[in-house]
Amino acid sequence: MTENVLEFGPCRRARFLARPNRFVVHCRLPDGEEARAFLPNPGRLWELLLPEAVVHLRDGGRRSSQNAGRKYRYTAVAVEREGAPVLLHTHWTNQVARILLEQKRIPGLEDVSILRAEVAHGRSRFDFLLRRRRTDLFLEVKSCTLFGNRVAMFPDAVTDRGRRHLLELAELSRRRVRPVVLFLVHTSDVDWFLPDYHTDLAFSQTLLQVRKKLDVIAVSLRWRSDLTLAPEVRRLHIPWSMLKREARDRGSYLLLLRLDREHRLRVGRLGQLSFPAGFYLYVGSAMQNLSARLARHQRKRKKFHWHIDHLREAAAACIPLAIRSSTRDECSLAAALSEICAAGPRGFGASDCACPTHLFFSEQNPLQLRPFHDLLQRFRMKPPEP
Ligand SMILES: [Zn+2]
Repeated sequence: MTENVLEFGPCRRARFLARPNRFVVHCRLPDGEEARAFLPNPGRLWELLLPEAVVHLRDGGRRSSQNAGRKYRYTAVAVEREGAPVLLHTHWTNQVARILLEQKRIPGLEDVSILRAEVAHGRSRFDFLLRRRRTDLFLEVKSCTLFGNRVAMFPDAVTDRGRRHLLELAELSRRRVRPVVLFLVHTSDVDWFLPDYHTDLAFSQTLLQVRKKLDVIAVSLRWRSDLTLAPEVRRLHIPWSMLKREARDRGSYLLLLRLDREHRLRVGRLGQLSFPAGFYLYVGSAMQNLSARLARHQRKRKKFHWHIDHLREAAAACIPLAIRSSTRDECSLAAALSEICAAGPRGFGASDCACPTHLFFSEQNPLQLRPFHDLLQRFRMKPPEP
C-alpha cells in the first residue's frame, strides 16, 4: 500500500489572477509569466479562487502527448486555503475514492470490495458497484471543497443533476442493492457535513427526503503540500435534525449589485440620492417564500415597493445570496457588514428597525475579498448547537 498512488505529475505553484470562464483560470507563475490553465471543476469556488491564492498547476509540457488536443499546457489541480491544498481536479475524485476503498480507509465502507467502476443502471450511471458479503452497493462519489467554521457544505452551485442522482439512488433501494452517496471533503478542518441549503435548497430537501433509503457518508481528507494524501480519513457528523429545522425557504439574504457609473436616484421618502459606481450589498429578510423574494429582486421593470427597487433598476448586475435560517438575522448581518464595508445612505432599507442602514458600499467586488467570505460563512455555516 503506497500512499503516493495518485500521481499528478510535475506541478508548479502559481498565483491566481482571474477566471474568465468556468473552465479556465489565469495565473502568474513564479517567474512572472502569465499562464492560462484548464480548470476541471464546474463549482463556483468563490471563497477559494481569491486574488493571489496559490494554485497548483500540472505542467503537461510543451510537447507532452497527454496535452495533445488540449488547448492548455497547464491544468489547475489544487488551490491552497490557509496553506493547505484543496483538490480542485474533479476528474480525480473517483481515483481518490478507489484508493481509499481499496485501502479500507473509509469509515463505514471498510468491509466492501469493488466489483466495477462506472456502472450503468437503467438510464443512470453510478461511480462504483461494490459488494459487502452478499449485498451489492451502488456508490456515487461527490467532491466537496466548500467549508468554514468546521462545517463542510455541498454543492457550492445549484446542481439539478446532483438532485436527480439522489432520487435515482433512492429508487435503487427498492431492489436488493444498497445505495450509498459518499462526500469526499478536501480538508481536515471540519467536523460536520451539511448539504448547502443556502445555495441549493432543492438538493438539500431531496437529501433529507431520501436519507433513510441510502447511506450518506461524508469524510474529511487531508492533502499535504506535495499533493500526497495524508493517512487520516475522518467520518463527519451530519446533524439531520438541525438540517430539518433550517433547510426551509426562509431567512435573510444579501443582494450584491454593481453600478457601472454614478447614478442619482430618487428613493421614496429618502429623496434624491447619489450612488457612486462600485458594488453595493443590500441586506433583507423573508421569513417565508425567500426564493420568490430573490427572484423578484432579480427582475427589472416592476412596481417599486422597497428602497432597493430603485437601485436594482439602475444596477448592471444583481447576485442574490441566500442565508437560510429559522432566525431573522438581517440586522446582525447589517451590523457585521458595517465592519467591513462603507455604510450607504442613512435609513436605506431600515425603516422598520434601529439600524443606521441596510445598504453598504465597496469599491472592490466583495466576492474577491476574504473578509466578505468570512462573514458569509459565519452566517451560513453554523456548527450545530451542543
Ligand atoms: Zn436592521
